[in-house]
Amino acid sequence: MLSTDIRRTFLNFFADRDHPELPSASLIPEDSQLLLVNAGMVPFAPYFLSRRQPPHPRLMSLQKCLRTVDIERVGKTTRHATSFEMLGNFSFGDYFKDEVVPWAYELLTEGYGLDRERLWITVLDGDDETVELWRRLGFPDERIQRLGVEDNYWSMGLPGPGGPSSEIFYDRGERFGLGGGPAVDKERFLELWNLVFIHQLRGDSDYDIRGELPARNIDTGLGVDRLALVLQDRAYICETDLLSPTLRRLQEITGEDYQIAPTRSQTSYRIVSDHLRAGAFLIADGVLPGNEGRGYVVRRLLRRVVRHGRLLGIDGPFLGDLVGTVIENLGGQWPELITRRPVIEQVVGREEEAFDRTVRQGTRLLDVAILSAKPGGVLPGATAFELHDTYGFPVDLTAEIAEDAGLSLDRDEFGLLMQAQRRRARDARSAGPSSDEVYRELLGKLGPTEFFGYDQLSGEAHVLG
Ligand code: ATP
Ligand code: MG
Ligand code: MG
Ligand code: MG
Repeated sequence: MLSTDIRRTFLNFFADRDHPELPSASLIPEDSQLLLVNAGMVPFAPYFLSRRQPPHPRLMSLQKCLRTVDIERVGKTTRHATSFEMLGNFSFGDYFKDEVVPWAYELLTEGYGLDRERLWITVLDGDDETVELWRRLGFPDERIQRLGVEDNYWSMGLPGPGGPSSEIFYDRGERFGLGGGPAVDKERFLELWNLVFIHQLRGDSDYDIRGELPARNIDTGLGVDRLALVLQDRAYICETDLLSPTLRRLQEITGEDYQIAPTRSQTSYRIVSDHLRAGAFLIADGVLPGNEGRGYVVRRLLRRVVRHGRLLGIDGPFLGDLVGTVIENLGGQWPELITRRPVIEQVVGREEEAFDRTVRQGTRLLDVAILSAKPGGVLPGATAFELHDTYGFPVDLTAEIAEDAGLSLDRDEFGLLMQAQRRRARDARSAGPSSDEVYRELLGKLGPTEFFGYDQLSGEAHVLG
């Protein structure tokens, strides 16, 4: 099943159950303290908070998402992308778990034809009501696992609404791991869908429940890329039809076969194809490369693309060419990629050039630092900071190169220096736009990007670097 059918099947299913669709919001959150939209519910947060009245008590959406917390996992785990699509159905004081649990099961087994024997469920330990709902659908106790609040409690804000969740996993078989269910292995047992039952007012922690909300709500998130991974029987998330054209074009550029390339190169192929999509989406939404906030997310993604392209032996510029493939493949669903195409191509091209220039200089500095460190020792955080500050080296790039040389990076020292610099930047912010000079003219066309702070919503700290 292709991704277009995956999206359509979900939206038809919930349209038949009286869910109007709200279009995907921009990756830049409108009404939230988040750095970027990282889940389908983010644009609906005001409805859960009863700050605004939803247009309908049931809604559904296909939302583009971006998670910087997953950057380092891309290409290493099989299941993490930095940008991905999330389908979701929502109830604001309307239906609750009795409806949503059987619906989710029906859609996965009948709509998508997944083998019911391969589905596994997690619930919050103590939520017997939800266990009973799954039992009634024929799930044996062995495939219903009870986990703690780290896995199965969701909350927003401090204090704010929250509630237990129940997640649905698909067993991809022995090729991906030994067994034991999602409680022990989240690669073989792939998380597809998160159902959240938002009905509590939570205090300062997930253990501090203050009482019941006036309404019982439902929030769900089903990953399109994850479902494509299963339905298209691929090993890695970047191999589905959402990204495979990029991967194919990249192989034409390198002249090498990704499937039989050395493991390290395969990781580079995955990172390039993943990060370039994320970069294209961010630029399409008006984020331009810069040294802080969202601008730094784009810069970091694109610089990793260039670095891994160079590791694959690509000498000349390739981002402009490759991003064209991303746009052509995904532009049907996401027309902003088409309308912003000239800007996207120009920005990625410039970022590649600028990075190449600084890498050449920065690499020299790094080589000296590596040579003067003890073998198996530590690379000072100050070196990483200088590389970041003066040469635009993302810290994970420095860490990767250090690791290759058998050194570990002093991230604590780096973090302290970054904090100090951020404080300085904040003080200077009023002086003007934060993006680089070269992008100022583009800012006029797109509108400036603004930094609202780091992710506080999902409980996942977004640490830059
Ligand atoms: P995981 O535990 O695998 O990292 P998660 O628990 O962080 O996933 P949720 O926050 O529950 O994910 O998001 C809802 C759904 O979005 C997931 O069930 C999954 O289908 C999808 N999803 C989450 N993170 C990613 C990602 N990095 N790449 C692709 N899809 C994702
Ligand atoms: Mg996650
Ligand atoms: Mg999870
Ligand atoms: Mg989850």
